[in-house]
Amino acid sequence: MTVMSCPSPNHGPRRDGARPDMVVIHYTAMDSAAAALDRLCDPEAEVSAHYLICEQGRIWHMVNEEMRAWHAGAGRWGDVTDVNSRSIGIELANRGDHPFSAPQMTALEGLLRGVMARWAIPPARVIGHSDMAPLRKSDPGPRFDWRRLARCGLSIWPDPDPAGPPSDFLADAARAGWHPPADCADPETAVLTALRLRFRPQASGALDMMDRAIAADLAARFPVDPMPRTA
Ligand SMILES: [Zn+2]
Repeated sequence: MTVMSCPSPNHGPRRDGARPDMVVIHYTAMDSAAAALDRLCDPEAEVSAHYLICEQGRIWHMVNEEMRAWHAGAGRWGDVTDVNSRSIGIELANRGDHPFSAPQMTALEGLLRGVMARWAIPPARVIGHSDMAPLRKSDPGPRFDWRRLARCGLSIWPDPDPAGPPSDFLADAARAGWHPPADCADPETAVLTALRLRFRPQASGALDMMDRAIAADLAARFPVDPMPRTA
């Protein structure tokens, strides 16, 4: 794993002494990794991430993991609304509609293993930008292989039972971490869009039994804020 250093001035302290307990994965949506690196290190752009991974698998380290990088913006995961203070941000060089290369994915897996071990981050807290900002963000997008990460224990994948009991889609999704944007006119569509982008990129049309089953399974197995056990 080749890690190069390119310090970005775009960072600050994590607020309230927070430690990172999640990872947010992005794509750059730019023409080249070099252009993305320039932007992520440009003080006028006021954006950054902890790491950028090029298509060839080279990793650029921009912000120290102890510090708060500026990659997440408005959004929410579970009860976390200042996602930058609680996360490590990883950018993947990709124009947005391209497949992710094998060397890039291998580098990401190696990087994730280290980050997750250093900060004791569980697989369920490795998410996409689109998961914490439904409708506003769509990265890392439908071509990102979440199932591959899950197989390596670096993220999660649902095991839905479409014949399961009736469930409350939005309540289940919220229990697993997904929330609609504030003041959203159609929260069901917002959350459905995010969940499908992550787990069913080919699906279209209205909310169906499979979507409900996915949310129910995630809520049951990966509750984002586990309820205290009662005696
Ligand atoms: Zn992003």
